[in-house]
Amino acid sequence: MIEQFMSAMGVDKTLFDNGDLKVTTPIDGSQIGTVKMDGIADVQSKINNAKTAFQAWRVVPAPKRGELIRLLGEVLREHKEDLGALVSIEAGKIKEEGLGEVQEMIDICDFAVGLSRQLYGLTIASERAGHHMRETWHPLGVIGVISAFNFPVAVWSWNTALAIVCGNPVIWKPSEKTPLVALACQALFEKALAKFGDAPEHLSQLIIGHVDVGNALVESEDVALISATGSTRMGREVAPKVAARFGKCLLELGGNNAMILAPSADLNLALRGILFSAVGTAGQRCTTLRRLIVHDSLKDEVVRKIKSAYETVTIGDPLKGNLVGPLIDKDSFESMQSALERAKSAGGKVTGGERVLADEHSDAYYVKPAIVELDSQLDVAKTETFAPILYVMSYHDFDEALAMQNDVPQGLSSCVFTNDIREAELFLSARGSDCGIANVNIGTSGAEIGGAFGGEKETGGGRESGSDAWKNYMRRQTNTVNYSTELPLAQGINFG
Ligand code: NAD
Repeated sequence: MIEQFMSAMGVDKTLFDNGDLKVTTPIDGSQIGTVKMDGIADVQSKINNAKTAFQAWRVVPAPKRGELIRLLGEVLREHKEDLGALVSIEAGKIKEEGLGEVQEMIDICDFAVGLSRQLYGLTIASERAGHHMRETWHPLGVIGVISAFNFPVAVWSWNTALAIVCGNPVIWKPSEKTPLVALACQALFEKALAKFGDAPEHLSQLIIGHVDVGNALVESEDVALISATGSTRMGREVAPKVAARFGKCLLELGGNNAMILAPSADLNLALRGILFSAVGTAGQRCTTLRRLIVHDSLKDEVVRKIKSAYETVTIGDPLKGNLVGPLIDKDSFESMQSALERAKSAGGKVTGGERVLADEHSDAYYVKPAIVELDSQLDVAKTETFAPILYVMSYHDFDEALAMQNDVPQGLSSCVFTNDIREAELFLSARGSDCGIANVNIGTSGAEIGGAFGGEKETGGGRESGSDAWKNYMRRQTNTVNYSTELPLAQGINFG
């Protein structure tokens, strides 16, 4: 099934039918390829290659580096359908979302091309006569990207488009669950390189494998930045290792995103927001809506409406027009069931959550999205379970809702639905949402690339994609130039 897409994108068949890593599709659990894994020695040699590439690429003018990313954007436009379908097959996203992910890649390429002429520094007033000061940004070095299964290509492009424009080579360790789309991205990058012509070898390299090879990247002193996307558990392992060698880390970890639904809200809008954010991608987005904090006057009506909306959601093969595809694997299904059990035994009222289509697909895990009504925010609701579970709790005062929204260890995305400007502005204020993303009358998921993406607390604090996230991929230098014939010291110090 995948051969036609892979060959259209220029991936050699030997790369995906002749290896030791078995790749399956969550659509029916069948094997769709085998990929050769890298060993630790391969990682070291790829890091050495990248170091050599860095020497050459860092001195290429940034707008010229931008031309390579412009070409990558063109190649992605040509292959949007192929790559989007492959994302659906390997990660189980519905077709629209697979295509949407590739569109996000195209968008970040466009953004990065513009950025290639805007890597601005500052000029700073010097306190000394005949001096000027400025701040410049220089390429950083080898960038290591570790990514999760659920955004198997967009995260690579967010990092790579910016890193390349900023003058750095990239080594990417994709999720072991989605190596095929990574091979496709590498092939597409190579197509762009061929059109570009004069670029050093090894600007973009792949490392395929499990935690051991990811760890080799993390521990290497030759990797200037580790940009790691995945669970908080992974971040807890990676961050101290990078810190111990004084490397830089950009962490994009788990979320536990909430909506506050206030009495003045446009309920139709809110329900549509809930539906997309809570069940889209089968609850497997870092920004998935996991907690609904609804005003007590609305709770019964809203819960009834969500339940009836959930009844209309079609679940099944993501390539056949359904709205909800499969969970990534059996482990994911089991952790969903165990969270629902915990909620139930603590007094939660669970609707949905059961497995469907098991007869048709015994090795695939399709579930009904679950709603769990809770009297208060229990521990289970403070944990990220990467599946479609929506915990519903009620509030009476807006301050109480804000406190509940912030009372979780994660801090990625949040939103309020209200038509009361005081509530909206309070939500966005210093004593409002403590998340990296805070929206008004928009759900928690589906961010645009133009903003900085990421969150606080256990989400890791990193920001990637738009705004000034490019600064992660460069080093800052402060310059003072003396064009006078004197040597005055700062702070007026007289040194004899
Ligand atoms: P995961 O943590 O299991 O794996 C992510 C990646 O980290 C994989 O490539 C894995 O091989 C690698 N890895 C794991 N442990 C490692 C270690 N010790 N050293 C080096 N590499 C290691 O995550 P997953 O199940 O693939 O993805 C789901 C998680 O990712 C969720 O928690 C979700 O919220 C999070 N996520 C966050 C964002 C974000 O931007 N904040 C985006 C997507 C996914």
